[in-house]
Amino acid sequence: MKSNRPITSRLPIILALVAVFVAMPLLLISENPPTTSEEQAALSPDAVLADLLAGNARYVEGKLTERDIPKEVKASAGGQFPKAVILSCLDSRVPVELVFDQGIGDVFVGRVAGNIENEDQLGSMEFATKAAGAKLVLVLGHEACGAVKGACDGVEMGNLTALLSKIKPAIEQTKGFEGERNSKNDAFVAKVIEENVRQTVADIRSRSEVLAELETQGAIKIVGAIYSLKDGSVTLLK
Ligand SMILES: [Zn+2]
Repeated sequence: MKSNRPITSRLPIILALVAVFVAMPLLLISENPPTTSEEQAALSPDAVLADLLAGNARYVEGKLTERDIPKEVKASAGGQFPKAVILSCLDSRVPVELVFDQGIGDVFVGRVAGNIENEDQLGSMEFATKAAGAKLVLVLGHEACGAVKGACDGVEMGNLTALLSKIKPAIEQTKGFEGERNSKNDAFVAKVIEENVRQTVADIRSRSEVLAELETQGAIKIVGAIYSLKDGSVTLLK
């Protein structure tokens, strides 16, 4: 039946509908409960990777998810079911959870200068995946890494000497690089940073039977990526 009511009398209803549609996404955005056991179980390694990259795109655009942190803290107190384990450098300009727009209980993060793996990091990754169900191992290097620069220059200092020696194999991998081979050459440093991530990924596979087996079974993926200090973007290494 055709209504003869003037549009003005229907205005409150229209406005109410508009308000609902405008508010709905905001309501959804403010509800970000930590990853649940069911969500974690349903995720594939590729889905987790896509989720992290989508989060990074929001970070780059300055459109981070609005979060009720105290609520997330309370919601995650009873248990954790993170999607991924991320091995990052110590660098203060790489805030890992923010970089991927993740909340409380969403990702494990291991950090060490130069994002190298060692027995303790491998043990942590094995716990994160085999015991706690994470689906992705992501090694995250970054531009202009101070640890890599130190290794390129042969810096020796206290316990740092032993740590930087673990980056040396990545320097070896750049034997064909032509040009100045020290921290003053940005192109050389960038090449070593990339090789260092590749080396860490290869070492994880060769030094952890647990992780290699999980990857072979398709239960997890192990990938490497580089973070740009200039624009915050994360680029996967193929
Ligand atoms: Zn670094």
